[in-house]
Amino acid sequence: MKIANKKVTAERLVRDALDKAKHFSDYHIFTFLNEEGAIKKAREIDAKIKRGEKVGRLAGVPYALKDNFLSPEGETTASALILEGFNSPVTATSVAKLEAEGAIMIGRTNLDAFAHGSSTENSYYGPTLNSHDKTRVAGGSSGGSAVAVALNIVEFATGTDTGGSIRQPASFNGIYGLKPTYGTISRYGVVAMASSTDCIGFFTKTPEDMDLLMSIASGQDPKDMTTLPDYYNDTKKMNVSKARIGIIKDFDNNSVHPELRKALAKKVELLKSKGHEIVELKMPALKYGLAAYYILVPAELCSNLSRHDGVRYGFRSKDSKDLDSLYENTRNEGFMSENKRRIMIGNFVLSSGFYDAYFLKAAKARTLILKEYEKAFKKCDFILTPVSPNPAFKLGEKVDDPVAMYLEDVMSVSLNLAGVPGLAIPAGETKDGLSLGLQLVGPRRSDKNLVEFAKEIQ
Ligand code: GLN
Repeated sequence: MKIANKKVTAERLVRDALDKAKHFSDYHIFTFLNEEGAIKKAREIDAKIKRGEKVGRLAGVPYALKDNFLSPEGETTASALILEGFNSPVTATSVAKLEAEGAIMIGRTNLDAFAHGSSTENSYYGPTLNSHDKTRVAGGSSGGSAVAVALNIVEFATGTDTGGSIRQPASFNGIYGLKPTYGTISRYGVVAMASSTDCIGFFTKTPEDMDLLMSIASGQDPKDMTTLPDYYNDTKKMNVSKARIGIIKDFDNNSVHPELRKALAKKVELLKSKGHEIVELKMPALKYGLAAYYILVPAELCSNLSRHDGVRYGFRSKDSKDLDSLYENTRNEGFMSENKRRIMIGNFVLSSGFYDAYFLKAAKARTLILKEYEKAFKKCDFILTPVSPNPAFKLGEKVDDPVAMYLEDVMSVSLNLAGVPGLAIPAGETKDGLSLGLQLVGPRRSDKNLVEFAKEIQ
């Protein structure tokens, strides 16, 4: 990732990335292209190199920013109308860290509005197309970021993962995507979805790049009280050439696409042949994951979204007669239907008559899931599962059926409820050329080992 050897200028890299972004404009990857800002920064880096000054570890590397990260470059819209016109006065900690190392943001990427979704079809700006098949979804919510990397427009992209939004689009597009341990990277300056499961992470083409980005972006931040001390750079490495890999036996295997099952079986054989031990696991509590997630996450997000009222920033509906109708019309026009559905579910499960039956039960299920992971990691170092039950589905196939869409998240959400890290790794293609992905799951704070293991088995 270095350009300091002067073989190529930062300006050349940035201009190439911008050209590619324009070339692929029909994929709807970007909500904003940072042409002026990116070229200006590239020239500054080139000038520094010319003067023989020290430059950062990401000097001149073009990257794409999911459009729910705040920074003054371009509007931060979270792909929702209600944030249209919002120019952030603050910069997310993760963005500041990347830029301090010289990375250059060439554009903001499309997502399901407020990161609610699994296909990027809930974006106000329309869906992003899959990098392998334009009739299919990119995955979501970070669809734009995944496709930007998969089509080689940029070296890496940022993402957020509240229940799979990095790992699922990574697997739908054949690249690496890491959801770190909860609290590894600061959430400061990122549009909040569900504060107890939101994680910041990256899309890359190699585990080596992931390693570099994690070593830069991780660490404690006084602006986010849930961040952990910087264990990523301090982790004592385990011997990744001899690992114990857990396979979950009681997942409903029939609901997993046959080619994905085959890819998993193939990977297991490969791991065995390389001397790794395979351990069979029973994890019955995981079946409560999806139901618990779709209660707890709406409960948290309805509170986070209540700040959008059309008064202080972003979009405001015209022609409202009084304050109540201003709120009502702004939210009605500014949120997508999926946002509104979740706000209603969230308020419902928190309401006094239903709190015990829904929210409290789901919170208890979450504890069961957490304990089940702890138990499993006494028997193995990592768990290997599919990221989602199917490869990329057709555009429009599930968008009118929220439950069918939610079911796609059945294998990804339990990690967020437990706070454990998951790394999506490419696992070949279907016979029709759709990419297949698997995820490696580790215990809390095993992120460095996960990445090292991915390097070992790539
Ligand atoms: N697909 C999941 C959802 O819609 C996850 C979203 C995310 O991780 N942001 O809630």
